[in-house]
Amino acid sequence: MAVIPVALGGRSYEVRVESGLLADAATHCAPFLRKTRVPVITDENVAQHWREPVERSLAAAGHEARWHVLPAGERAKSWTELARTVDWLLSEEVERGDHILALGGGVVGDLTGFAAAILKRGCGFVQLPTTLLAQVDSSVGGKTAINTPAGKNLVGAFHQPSLVLADLDALGTLPQREMRAGFAEVIKYGILGDPEFFDWCERNGHAAISGDTDLLEQAVARSVAAKARIVAEDERETTGARALLNLGHTFGHALEAQTGFSDRLLHGEGVALGMVLAARYSARRGLIAPDDAARVATAIAAAGLQTEISTLGLTCTGTALADHMMHDKKMDAGTLPFILLRSIGAAFLDREVALIDVSAFLDEQL
Ligand code: NAD
Ligand code: ZN
Repeated sequence: MAVIPVALGGRSYEVRVESGLLADAATHCAPFLRKTRVPVITDENVAQHWREPVERSLAAAGHEARWHVLPAGERAKSWTELARTVDWLLSEEVERGDHILALGGGVVGDLTGFAAAILKRGCGFVQLPTTLLAQVDSSVGGKTAINTPAGKNLVGAFHQPSLVLADLDALGTLPQREMRAGFAEVIKYGILGDPEFFDWCERNGHAAISGDTDLLEQAVARSVAAKARIVAEDERETTGARALLNLGHTFGHALEAQTGFSDRLLHGEGVALGMVLAARYSARRGLIAPDDAARVATAIAAAGLQTEISTLGLTCTGTALADHMMHDKKMDAGTLPFILLRSIGAAFLDREVALIDVSAFLDEQL
């Protein structure tokens, strides 16, 4: 088992990475479970595969799991589902000293974390992330949120879990497409700050995604350690260090927006394309060699992800994509902050990238 300590919010907690954690959830969560009844929040897909082992583990330890099952997908991060969840927790008489278990992907983790942050002015929660994206990204760092008609993740709170159990077995039931999309965020940590880990991803990415548990454990543990380090440097997004985590995300969000945030392009798929674009744009600016940009694209392709935005069949112009970026960042004119590369493993924040230049670059890529 890999154990990564995370020190945030004036507290510290562990991220444990191993196979078999969910089947033994009660043992790991024991220090946080003070009542017989244990509230568990999940979604309908995850429940099909993972409700039973968690329920069995809790029952064997003398607990009664109480289930709240959300609809699957992004739509669960809504005011309606938040209200239903909080009302349910109150009906279960959950108190400030209690812990809620969040069993699922980033959607379940974000909604449950936010509900835990506001219930009785803050109760505890444990993250049981079941997607690769949730294991390497959303379950670490303490950001919780819901979406509103004004945009994604606009209402939320910083609220740290007491423990994170990243069970590699959970990834065995995850659709391959979700697995590949999550791996984009793994490669991201290498490209933005760790050239040796990028080399590792180049060599092992394909085998890790194909289910090699030892490789997956390393991929998850190293990603969590990278995120924990960056987030600890800049817990509330004030110094700019955390901005590096947005590598590939400005381009990626524009592509997600252009495809209507639909199944046509998963978040991680957009990030993968966005990282290729960030590398190519860095090469165009003379910051890295064209060969390095090609290496980024090859590593991403080896993980089964697309590297050419032309494959999306978009009919828009580069300017239309740049407009999404302006809207995204609420910039009024001319320039945008972008994460660019000085080399593979050394990303930096350029606060003033000319939009007209980005538009021209995107026109060449479309
Ligand atoms: P998700 O939670 O919607 O899960 C993706 C799909 O996989 C869903 O259909 C889900 O039901 C299914 N699923 C989950 N685990 C499964 C399993 N083990 N077996 C079979 N099916 C399974 O999506 P996600 O990609 O995990 O998370 C995306 C969310 O995370 C977004 O809302 C995003 O805003 C958020 N996020 C938050 C942070 C943060 O710091 N809090 C960071 C990144 C992303
Ligand atoms: Zn992301």
